[in-house]
Amino acid sequence: MRLVDEYRDPALAHALATAVVRRATRRWTVMEVCGGQTHAIVEHGLDQLVAPAVELLHGPGCPVCVTPLETLDRAASIAEEAGAIVCSFGDMLRVPGSRGDLFAARARGGDVRVVATPLDAARLAERIAPQPVVFLAVGFETTAPAAAAAARWALARGLANFFLLVAHVRVPPALEAIAAAPDARVHAFLAAGHVCTVMGTAEYESIAARHRVPIVATGFEPVDILEGLALAVAQLEDGAARVENQYRRAVRPEGNPAARALVDEVFAVADRPWRGIGLVPRGGLVLRDRYRALDAEQAFPACAAREPAREPEACRAADVLRGALRPPACPAFGRGCTPEHPLGAPMVSPEGACAAYFRWRGAEEAP
Ligand code: SF4
Repeated sequence: MRLVDEYRDPALAHALATAVVRRATRRWTVMEVCGGQTHAIVEHGLDQLVAPAVELLHGPGCPVCVTPLETLDRAASIAEEAGAIVCSFGDMLRVPGSRGDLFAARARGGDVRVVATPLDAARLAERIAPQPVVFLAVGFETTAPAAAAAARWALARGLANFFLLVAHVRVPPALEAIAAAPDARVHAFLAAGHVCTVMGTAEYESIAARHRVPIVATGFEPVDILEGLALAVAQLEDGAARVENQYRRAVRPEGNPAARALVDEVFAVADRPWRGIGLVPRGGLVLRDRYRALDAEQAFPACAAREPAREPEACRAADVLRGALRPPACPAFGRGCTPEHPLGAPMVSPEGACAAYFRWRGAEEAP
């Protein structure tokens, strides 16, 4: 198949779904890890097509949703108290922190701006030097290369007023944390295809073997997802647990070596908190010593959280992000929490699971 329409062919999708249902001798639990896949699943009703054979759990694959509250609070504080211009992607600015989102920080006088890329923020810093500019660097393996490129660009120019507030996270360790949890009920994972285009699939091998869990790198169109499910269910039925690649048109086992080398030059692997999951060993990135001058946490130490940040009590985002709660089962879904008035990040982000249900199924499934 070469054209996108072919990956949305309803007849092929129905045939694949039927094959998945026929192959299964019991009901399996499969988690898709990417918010983009969650939206495709809910939009096209793929969960309903395979329901007799597969219970789909939505994982923590929304980069905005897993960024800790403390990081947002720190970004707001840097904008409001340290006089720096804080930049990030548009949806990041709408995620609630302890004192509202970053647009609220702007309303209180902080200079907060939307940029399309980290390099745009670095260029802004060069234009308006010496005023400090901080890029709130969030996201998975897919966005880390662009942040790394901006850091290298800034260092090469000797910019002294550009900083990164690093909140990048790595998907495989989080997936391992979910598989290893005492209450784990995931039989197989669909790994996000775009993350695998950068990092490859090799890192998943040991996780699949250690936890006896099939992991299938999968694309984002309905036919991709159903093919990924078919591969996962076939492994489960055969008692296998290996890494497979459904998204062969984009993913190589070694990933993108140039992007990986760039990330490795700028960042080191470190333990990182994920919103909803907690501290994930080796679950994120920090700047290497050579780039430490660009670290916003070191440049603005007074802007660290003074007390632990608290999620809104009514928001069950932590359960949603672990796949423990379907968004419509949240008591606030469609009532106190809507995209216009979100209580939590999964309702804000275009990749959030709560937003997916609200957008494609409305409040019809609300409790
Ligand atoms: S529906 Fe809203 S309140 Fe409930 S978990 Fe999702 S974001 Fe939080």
